[in-house]
Amino acid sequence: MSYVDRIIADVEKKNADQPEFLQAVKEVLESLRVVVDRDNVYEEVGLLERLVEPERIIQFRVPWIDDQNRVRVNRGFRVQFNSAIGPYKGGLRFHPSVNLGIIKFLGFEQIFKNSLTGLPIGGGKGGTDFDPKGKSDNEVMRFCQSFMTELARHIGPDTDVPAGDIGVGGREIGFLYGQYRRLTGEFTGVLTGKGLTWGGSLARTEATGYGLVYLVEEYLNSIGDSFKGKKVAVSGSGNVAIFATQKVHELGGKVVTMTDSNGYIHHSAGINLDTIKEIKLVKRGRLSEYATIHGDAVHTDAGSGKVWDAPCDIALPCATQNELDLADAKTLVQNGCKIVGEGANMPTTLEASLFLQENGIAFFPGKAANAGGVGTSALEMSQNSERLSWSFEEVDAMLKRIMTGIFHSIDDTSKEYGRAGDYILGANIAGFRKVAQAMLDQGII
Ligand code: NDP
Repeated sequence: MSYVDRIIADVEKKNADQPEFLQAVKEVLESLRVVVDRDNVYEEVGLLERLVEPERIIQFRVPWIDDQNRVRVNRGFRVQFNSAIGPYKGGLRFHPSVNLGIIKFLGFEQIFKNSLTGLPIGGGKGGTDFDPKGKSDNEVMRFCQSFMTELARHIGPDTDVPAGDIGVGGREIGFLYGQYRRLTGEFTGVLTGKGLTWGGSLARTEATGYGLVYLVEEYLNSIGDSFKGKKVAVSGSGNVAIFATQKVHELGGKVVTMTDSNGYIHHSAGINLDTIKEIKLVKRGRLSEYATIHGDAVHTDAGSGKVWDAPCDIALPCATQNELDLADAKTLVQNGCKIVGEGANMPTTLEASLFLQENGIAFFPGKAANAGGVGTSALEMSQNSERLSWSFEEVDAMLKRIMTGIFHSIDDTSKEYGRAGDYILGANIAGFRKVAQAMLDQGII
């Protein structure tokens, strides 16, 4: 049995109840065969065994009191996966579906993503099964304060720097940061995604969505094309989806769909982003309201159809994991889609991503395509360290450099291994090499 097969079998045995984690590990290790099976050194130092095992897992109780004075208890997690190239860095997800396996999959992906940015950040991720939807601001504040009361002892500006993810935006980061400051008495860059008046970076809010579009744009430029006139299907209607849509529109493309967990809208005239921002960011409402405002848009309930049924040139899944399956991939190919760029983490199932690649679609995995968020978070850390703030234009220009750099790094790597255009392989190997070298240099730890 090859080294890679042995590790996959071992991970399957030990983590049988964590399907998302297994999926992420298999995808990465399959790509690494051509590297680790060629050189015994990795097996000799047990590098893969160490890579798939988090350095530390923290799980904790989060008690809080709701508006009816009832005691509620949620589960909190922080997985500190790998700090070989820098302090753990990765978001916090607040969603009822959160469990240890999901946080481990996200933390594992984060190792390679952070490496691809070229910046010195290790991989980590955290979250809770608390659902901020339908909660009052005061309930969210009490929850965040309780969550941070435990988390604070495990993080720090040079050890572990969390950020936002699904369900964690500016409001939650504010409450979390306030509690951290109160507990420690320190004003440091311990979280990213902070407000602009208290250490946040300009362009961080926009960074993941913008970065996704910058990467796809660089690919289009490399084949002598652009976003002009392209029809784009986007899923999600949160942070990543909104700012990806904004950048596509700026570059002359037209986004025609968006989703939330209740269904999707199709607006062939082009999504009106002002309406979306009002519904999702101001009112915290449901996407179905969009169709009552724009009569020519159609809302389809979840279960009655999927967003990927809408014909498009480019698909940008920006909601959640495994939202694009094999049947969806077949529909996209049939409808003439040419590019899929993952704004979300692992939104495409393994079979679907392979089918897309086999059918000539340029497929950009999330660990490359959505790395602009964490890249800009690292820029926020740099600004906090030097106690300066850079202009929007400066940060945006660096973000663009990071994303074009990632495109060329994964493109070059795919060519180096004789698999031109296999960006899954390119991203996994390019991300792995830097981390592996650091682990080799630092001994068996
Ligand atoms: P938000 O919470 O702002 O938005 C999430 C969107 O996805 C909402 O429209 C939400 O709908 C929808 N969604 C979430 N869970 C589900 C589900 N189980 N089924 C259907 N729809 C769902 O999150 P972000 O935009 O920040 O994150 C989106 C994705 O991007 C995630 O995979 C995240 O890990 C990834 N990502 C985010 C980064 C960032 O900087 N924010 C950085 C890199 C990756 P509803 O409103 O109904 O819940």
